[in-house]
Amino acid sequence: MLVDVHCHLTDSVLKERLPDILRDARNAGVSAMVTSGLGYEDCLEVLKISDYRTVFPSFGVMPYELEGYEMVLDLIEKNSRRIVAIGEVGLDFYLGARTDRELQRKVFKEFISLSINLDLPIIVHSRSAGKYALEVLSECGAKDVIMHAFDGSASHAMSGVRNGYFFSIPPSVVRSAQKQKLVERVQLENILLESDAPALPPKPGEVNVPSNVKISAEAVSRIKGIPLWKVEEVTTENALRVFRIKV
Ligand SMILES: [Zn+2]
Repeated sequence: MLVDVHCHLTDSVLKERLPDILRDARNAGVSAMVTSGLGYEDCLEVLKISDYRTVFPSFGVMPYELEGYEMVLDLIEKNSRRIVAIGEVGLDFYLGARTDRELQRKVFKEFISLSINLDLPIIVHSRSAGKYALEVLSECGAKDVIMHAFDGSASHAMSGVRNGYFFSIPPSVVRSAQKQKLVERVQLENILLESDAPALPPKPGEVNVPSNVKISAEAVSRIKGIPLWKVEEVTTENALRVFRIKV
């Protein structure tokens, strides 16, 4: 049994063949998926496709597309009992280079305090900003943090581990020395599995799907020299605990 803690099932590439994607996920042993909405309209879509048996909703906004983010904050408050997490939200100093860094920080902090007030876990995007995102989270006293597809150094990641944060590992780990190093350093108790579908496929250019979290699990098993069943068991327990879901 596996849990995909971060994907985008409402992305146009996936949405049109959603029944097949969910069937393939089930066949690969993926029994729960947390699908993240990006922006107001997409969050409403995410709510529509969530069945709370295999598909669970999370509301967020891309750090480089902050227009209308206040509406997402409002939507989170109104639906705080219907979502399992806030996210993805965070900092992006790569694609978001044109979005003012101070504005990104300010908005990120607003989402963090909402996650604390509503007692919801937070899924964090931190492209080219891992160290800074970890600093902001720590400063704000964030709890139940999931660092998704963390691209920073393993030594920075360890400061997150010391705060009890989770690091979710995408299938692109098979072709990323940085992610392999991250898996080496972070203990299994702080690891989760994600697809980030349709992004971060195992092979460049492919469309990623949730069933590929199996590839993440196998990579973690290989890199850490831990049996696959143990990786599946511990990462699933971690996921069910942090999102407070039952499957
Ligand atoms: Zn994502």
